[in-house]
Amino acid sequence: MQNPFQNAMSQLDKVAKIKNFGEEFISRLRQPDRDIRISIPVKMDDGSVKIFEGYRVEYNNTLGPYKGGIRYHQDTEINEVKALAFWMALKCAVAGIPMGGGKGGITVNPKELSKSELEKLSRGWVQKLSDILGPKKDVPAPDVNTTPEIMDWMADEFEKITGDKTRAVITGKPLGKGGSEGRGTATAQGGFFVFETLKKELNLPEKCKVAIQGFGNAGSYAALIWSKAGHTVVAISDSKSGIYNPNGINIEKLIEYKKNTNSLSGFPDSKEITNEELLEIEIDLLIPAAFENQITDANADKVRAKAILELANGPITPEADEILFKKGIPVVPDILANSGGVTVSYFEWDQNLKNEHWSEKEVFDKLQPMLENSTKKIIEKAKESNTDLRRGAFILALERIKEKML
Ligand code: NAD
Repeated sequence: MQNPFQNAMSQLDKVAKIKNFGEEFISRLRQPDRDIRISIPVKMDDGSVKIFEGYRVEYNNTLGPYKGGIRYHQDTEINEVKALAFWMALKCAVAGIPMGGGKGGITVNPKELSKSELEKLSRGWVQKLSDILGPKKDVPAPDVNTTPEIMDWMADEFEKITGDKTRAVITGKPLGKGGSEGRGTATAQGGFFVFETLKKELNLPEKCKVAIQGFGNAGSYAALIWSKAGHTVVAISDSKSGIYNPNGINIEKLIEYKKNTNSLSGFPDSKEITNEELLEIEIDLLIPAAFENQITDANADKVRAKAILELANGPITPEADEILFKKGIPVVPDILANSGGVTVSYFEWDQNLKNEHWSEKEVFDKLQPMLENSTKKIIEKAKESNTDLRRGAFILALERIKEKML
C-alpha cells in the first residue's frame, strides 16, 4: 500500500514546480500544525478492556477552525489521516469557506463492535480530545464508517464535558439534533454540480454511461443522482463484489436489494464483475467513491473512461495521474469534486451558531453557485498554467491560503 501522505506531498511538489509560491510557504504546508495520537480504553461487553488507537491531525487553520471527518477503519493509520487533513485544508480553500483542514480516525473495524462498544469508543475519542475541539477551534465530521448517530454521541459527550450547547462542535448530526438538511447527499450532489459545470469542457456527451466504485454514502447517492438526471449507471462495486449491466442498473432497486441482502451480488439482470474489471469498462465517466490508491501505475493504463470524477479522497496515485494525463483522460480532483460535503458541513455549523434551520432547497441553492464558481476558477487556473485540473485546484487553494497567511 502506498503512503497517502507521501502521495499528497508529491502532488504539492508538482505544483510548486509550475508556480512559485516561495519555499517558506511550501515548507509550512509540508507539516501539520499538530498530529495527535491517543489511546482509548473501552470496556467491552464481555467485561474485558480493549485499547484502541485514535488520531486527530490539525493541519492548517489559516482560513478558520480546523474542519474534517473522522474515519473508523481497520487500516486507518497516521499517514492516511495526515494526507486527508492536508487535502481538507486545500478543499476548504477551494470551496471558499472560512475553515481550515483537519482529520481524525480510529484504527478499528466498527462492524466487529456492538452498538454499546461503538458508543463508548466514540465518546472516548471526544473525552481524550475535548481540550482541542470546539466550534471556534476544531470541528470534526463523519467520514468512512462514521454515521449521524456517532456524531450525535460525540456532540453529546462534548456538551457534557464543556457545557457548550450550540452543538456546532461537530457536523453531520442527525436531523432534529442539530443536523442540516441535505448533509447526507451533499457530497454526491456537489460532485454532480461540478460535473454539470465541466461536462462541455470535458467533451462528455449529454447523457453519459457511468461506472461507480463504492456504494456507501458518496457512491450510492451519486448513483441515484446521476441516474435520476438521465445518465446510465452501468457498473457499481463495493468492498465485496461488483455488478454490470450495459443497459443500466435500477439504482433504487439496488439500494433496497443491498439493504436486504447486505450485498450487491446476485442483483437481477446484472453480470458479476470484479473491482478491477469495473475500472476497465469502456464508459464516459468513472467515479471512484471508495478509498485511496485504487488507480495506480499498475492499472491506470487499462482505464477506458473518457473522464474521471474523484468523489473519494486520493483514489488516484501521482504516478497514475501522469499515465492518465498522457492518455488524455481528464481527472476532476477530489478537493473540488467532493467539496460539497464539507461545504454543507460548514452550513450546518453556521446554522447551529445562528440557531437557524434552512430548508434543503436553501442549502442546495447556496451550494450550487459556490461550486460552479470554484469549478470555473479552477478551469481558468489550469489554463493559465497550461496544466491539469488537479494542479489548477491546488494553485487556487494555495493562492487563497497564502493570501490570508500573509
Ligand atoms: P462509506 O463507508 O459510506 O462507503 C465506502 C464504500 O466503499 C462502501 O460501499 C464499501 O463497501 C466500499 N469499498 C470499500 N473498499 C472498496 C474497494 N476496494 N472497492 C470498491 N468498493 C470498496 O464511506 P463514504 O462516506 O461514502 O466515503 C467514501 C469516500 O468518499 C472516502 O474516500 C471519503 O473520504 C470520501 N468522502 C466522503 C464524504 C462524505 O460526506 N461521506 C465527503 C468527502 C469525501
